[in-house]
Amino acid sequence: MSRLSGKTRVIGLFGSPVAHSRSPVMQNTVFKAMGLDFAYLAFDVGLERAGEAIRAIRTLGLCGANVTMPLKRAVVPYLDALSPAAALAGAVNVIVNEHGHLTGHLTDGTGFMLSLDEAGVAYQGRAMTIIGAGGAGIAVAIQAAFQGVDSVTFFNQRDRFYDAGKTLAAQLCDETDCVITIRDLADHQNLAHHVAETDILINATPIGMDETSTQTALPDLSDLRPEQTVCDLIYVPRQTKLLKQAAARGCTTVSGIGMQLYQAVPAFRMWTGQDIDIDIARQALLGKDVQ
Ligand code: NAP
Repeated sequence: MSRLSGKTRVIGLFGSPVAHSRSPVMQNTVFKAMGLDFAYLAFDVGLERAGEAIRAIRTLGLCGANVTMPLKRAVVPYLDALSPAAALAGAVNVIVNEHGHLTGHLTDGTGFMLSLDEAGVAYQGRAMTIIGAGGAGIAVAIQAAFQGVDSVTFFNQRDRFYDAGKTLAAQLCDETDCVITIRDLADHQNLAHHVAETDILINATPIGMDETSTQTALPDLSDLRPEQTVCDLIYVPRQTKLLKQAAARGCTTVSGIGMQLYQAVPAFRMWTGQDIDIDIARQALLGKDVQ
């Protein structure tokens, strides 16, 4: 944390649980290194206190907040305005307070696209296939459509996520030139075709983390080619089984750690008016000592 003063601007992290989050360490390390009079603090807020927490931003004059699970959708009714991506997703991960006027933004998708830029992956005019139409997959698809990806094909089981993906696909097709479709994950033949033909393949399911770390969301990766890029939104572990298998086939691989890091770039700029020092942020996020 930077040296505190009577003018220190406070940014919150709202969600539950939040004690494990590395965002406070990352943000406060950068504030200190850049000499900014800001502090970033985690607040454990459950669904039942979403409205109170948002009102507190205005009451206490917080600069803004990050919002994480389970509040990303629940806080939306309490905000004054939404960015185009947040409005499409019906979810936010960043709140900016301008004199009591609260705007919600969704920077997860921007973070993912910046991680593709960092890896040197071309995406304009390319085909993207996303396994999992949950919150993270939808955030990526929205930003990909905004940034000129030619087509996004979701695969999901036929349930509430499938229906949400179908609704989003219709909206995005109206608002962008990207062709968005959603298909049944159980259709293995269609899935195998897309895995073999897509330019950028993304796992947006939790399969590959924790007790599923020995699994992948895809039954067969034998058709992958070195020209393809394979991404996992999971950031712990950094190298999932999917990424290891894709790397063994010569594919470019992109871990979820980049998305986690780069989602902070637009948020930091909106809160502080300055560009985040990305190298210091990366070291702090990865748990390395910052000199
Ligand atoms: P979510 O909204 O709960 O969505 C989870 C998605 O995974 C749904 O589409 C779900 O579909 C699918 N899924 C879950 N279990 C599955 C299974 N056994 N087989 C097939 N599909 C399955 O979660 P989320 O927020 O999108 O998070 C998804 C992943 O992205 C997590 O691993 C999370 O850690 C990661 N993430 C990373 C970042 C980052 O900064 N790198 C940011 C956000 C999220 P069904 O339930 O219909 O199968």
